[in-house]
Amino acid sequence: MTKLGHLTLADLTVQDLLIPADKVAHVQVGNPAEHALLVLVQSGYASVPVLDMYYKYQGTIGKTKILQNVMGMERFEMEKLSEIKVESVMDVDTPKVTKDMDFLTCLKLVINHPFACVVDEQGYFEGILTRRAILKQVNKSMYID
Ligand code: AMP
Repeated sequence: MTKLGHLTLADLTVQDLLIPADKVAHVQVGNPAEHALLVLVQSGYASVPVLDMYYKYQGTIGKTKILQNVMGMERFEMEKLSEIKVESVMDVDTPKVTKDMDFLTCLKLVINHPFACVVDEQGYFEGILTRRAILKQVNKSMYID
């Protein structure tokens, strides 16, 4: 395993790499899809976490899924956006991790997912782990001998 100063990649955990909750754009389960689309377009992210009113992680929601839900035969029926709730279009299969999870497990996770949500033992949202944060460490490790 390549060394990072005195650390190796295998020593890193989610705790060292996470973007904390207060810096993460999110929406709530009960929000209309219209609000979610606004957050997604304003933030520039393809998808963001979905939380409940207690800040517990519920899933993720992305632009593509929302637009698929309002796609008619000939046009996007945008008037439907206010009737659809986030919970009915969110993705519940996005991976979640805990702060103590090791680097190699995370590396495998981000092969198929652009980010994973970080939760505590009770399911409260603590932040996200992004593919970018993982790749930055891999890149850094390539230049240290
Ligand atoms: P990145 O690896 O930086 O491209 O991020 C991967 C994905 O994580 C992005 O496409 C977003 O869906 C999500 N993401 C990254 N940063 C944030 C953030 N601050 N708030 C919400 N979602 C984010």
